[in-house]
Amino acid sequence: MTSFFEEETTLFADLILPVPIPSLFTYRVPREMSELIKVGARVIVQFGKKRVITAVIANIHTNPPLKYQAKYILELLDEQPIVTARQLELFKWVAEYYLCNIGEVLNVALPAGLKITSQSRIQLNPEFDYEELLTEQEKLILEEIKKHQTLSYEEVERLIAKSNITSVIKSLVGKRAIILFEEVKERYKPKVVRKVRLGASFMDNDALVKLTSSLDKVPKQQEIVLRYLSHVPVYNNPELNQKGLDKSFFSQDDKISNASLNSLIKKGVFEQFEIFVSRFEDVPLKDGAVITLTESQKEASAQIHDLFAEKEVVLLHGITGSGKTEVYIELIKQALQSGTQVLFLLPEIALTTQIVVRLRKVFGDVMGIYHSKFSDNERVEVWKGILDGKFQFVVGVRSAIFLPFNNLGLIIVDEEHETSYKQHEPAPRYNARDVAVIMSYMHKGKVLLGSATPSLESYYHAKNGRYGLVEMTQRFGNAALPAFELIDIKKEKKQRKMKNEFSSVLLENLEHNLKNKEQTILFQNRRGYSPYLQCEECHWISECANCDVSLTYHMRVGELRCHYCGHKEEVPRTCPNCGSTKVKTMGYGTEKIEDEINLMFPQARVQRMDLDTTRAKNAYQQIIQEFEDGGIDILVGTQMVSKGLDFDNVSMVGIFDADRIIHFPEFRASERAFQMLTQVSGRAGRRAEKPGKVLIQTANPAQKLLERIITNDYTGMYEAEIAEREKFNYPPFTRLIKVTVKHTDEPVSNKAAKILAEKLTAELGASRVLGPQPPLVERVRNQFLFDILIKLEREKINFKAVKSFIQEKVIDVLTDKTLKSIQVVIDVDCL
Ligand code: ADP
Ligand code: ZN
Ligand code: ZN
Repeated sequence: MTSFFEEETTLFADLILPVPIPSLFTYRVPREMSELIKVGARVIVQFGKKRVITAVIANIHTNPPLKYQAKYILELLDEQPIVTARQLELFKWVAEYYLCNIGEVLNVALPAGLKITSQSRIQLNPEFDYEELLTEQEKLILEEIKKHQTLSYEEVERLIAKSNITSVIKSLVGKRAIILFEEVKERYKPKVVRKVRLGASFMDNDALVKLTSSLDKVPKQQEIVLRYLSHVPVYNNPELNQKGLDKSFFSQDDKISNASLNSLIKKGVFEQFEIFVSRFEDVPLKDGAVITLTESQKEASAQIHDLFAEKEVVLLHGITGSGKTEVYIELIKQALQSGTQVLFLLPEIALTTQIVVRLRKVFGDVMGIYHSKFSDNERVEVWKGILDGKFQFVVGVRSAIFLPFNNLGLIIVDEEHETSYKQHEPAPRYNARDVAVIMSYMHKGKVLLGSATPSLESYYHAKNGRYGLVEMTQRFGNAALPAFELIDIKKEKKQRKMKNEFSSVLLENLEHNLKNKEQTILFQNRRGYSPYLQCEECHWISECANCDVSLTYHMRVGELRCHYCGHKEEVPRTCPNCGSTKVKTMGYGTEKIEDEINLMFPQARVQRMDLDTTRAKNAYQQIIQEFEDGGIDILVGTQMVSKGLDFDNVSMVGIFDADRIIHFPEFRASERAFQMLTQVSGRAGRRAEKPGKVLIQTANPAQKLLERIITNDYTGMYEAEIAEREKFNYPPFTRLIKVTVKHTDEPVSNKAAKILAEKLTAELGASRVLGPQPPLVERVRNQFLFDILIKLEREKINFKAVKSFIQEKVIDVLTDKTLKSIQVVIDVDCL
């Protein structure tokens, strides 16, 4: 050994492990890795006794940890970082701000396909067909997989005794013999096409002639070569050979055996190669008319552009159908031309459809799509595509904020008021809209928030000059906003004109629309057939055994279901309490409306769109497509029908139960109701030639909020609400932190919450701490919940210090022996 090696210092790496643990872990870097290792690369390490997990390198240094003996890193997975320096900075910020661990952020950020853990299982790659590449040990593993279909990491470990399991698995993955997948997740379907082409030495015509005649003795092989040549006429155009022919082309033909083809490959007559095909080719690249911006769109995009010179964030407040998407497209083009990356965030549900098709038309292959209904592997493809520079532009849901951008010039957050930008479970409980703003600071980029019904927070910032504000007040093509009609159901009930949930006015209009072959959307923000069953004799109500909430009756599947914990039961034939047969459905959801329409208008084509009908991967898209193509007359749905959809032929929207939405017991109820009802109404009359109508059924037509909705008076709503918020110290004047205490024992949960609230109040003052109080649903999954709400003024308060104070107090409570089994969830900027 030379002195050079002896003097070389040992390197250590601080790693982020994707687990809920507060700190980084230091591991020792094996000498042979020290040249290759980089911050942001993934490594595999042992964690705990048995587990092997993927971690990401956060720092590299020469200081051994003081408190423990550092273990060696087992494997380095990437030669180039897959997490950028900017991302690490962002993850750290998110962990600090939302009071969670950076490992939890990493866990949400990294697609499962980039993680190998001991929970991973392996399966055979169905397309693997060269066993000769494998070592004896690897063959052994493959034999086992064939026997059992899949194997867990531990099972592999047992099989190969002393060897290094991760390197064996890595080798098998490298040879594409096996596929890793997360146990509960969809399995990997590699989108690789295997191909063959002629070996280079046969690429002149003489060699080809020689080859074919030399194969006279092996006619099967000769046949293959001739088939190849007839499909890829390389003698005319040698370039064609580059692209080769799909291997599957030969396997479809029973006259051709795989063995013959393989012999030709062994001889070097053919060479095998693989190409990766993008999964995004599934989104059709339709072409359409070239769009020129209208004057008001041009003006809006110019205003936004100018405002970006002085503001980090601009809010585009444009009424439904004003053509905001085209304005976004213009700005995305400009940003891409200037060489920066662009991220376009959309709420979960809006993403699978129309808007993606519109964007792909314009941006084609530079656009990546990031969506939770995509498989892990599709997500990995986007992740890597951004790192490689393939995707300069990504349209995605909230978690797309964690993708590996390094030069993000513009983030657009469409429908910025949507609550689905906020993650509830698990931590980090982040709001992607707010993280976008921080991220743009880091990238020195800009954020455009867009909505027809902005959140009070964003509009407040815009009014106060913190954000720029641009307004679009006309619908595209001079289409008018729909005409509204409020239907007094109290009156109709008195006059006995109602038919179940339907007012006579609604029914007349429905009939009229059907006759005119125009489409209708019916909105009821509640799924299932009816929210509960009730016994007429003893007033028993169907309730969940695990939660304090009624069980919803789902008629189609004949079940009672809990919408909180997923518990299911059969429908009782008689009252479980008194045995009476008079058990009635109470209230109504989308399923009941659909059912009643089917009875009253048997000729109408009805479709329902809610969580229950859209669980399958493409179901949502299919319904939208069918509605667009005119295959559906009446679409019944929950708020899912309102999300950014753009239909030509919808001339009527009917809204049930508006009062329930307006009077939801929550301080944001008016804002939410305004947003929801305006958005769903906005689906009507989007074409100038087909004016729209919105019918709202209510027991109280005189409500101020309804007047504001039907006159599209956002400002009126805003001013009334903001005054209330100011008076009672609610956002945007304060930031809210909700601390929820959970325990299966009600008194324990209650006691812990009380003690915690006292400790918080002692320091923060009674005006800043509300509760503890049980939330609307007091028990979920058998745990009793208590909420403490902390309101902190935006100014003059050291938010960071208060947050660590809250954390300290939580730890204090947890150190009490009788309370240590409680669970505490802290939700910063709760919604
Ligand atoms: P918003 O998102 O503001 O509700 P959209 O962007 O969906 O509105 O636009 C409403 C409709 O008007 C869409 O069908 C869109 O294709 C059409 N549209 C908007 N701008 C133009 C334009 N400049 N040229 C042609 N069609 C347009
Ligand atoms: Zn009963
Ligand atoms: Zn339940």
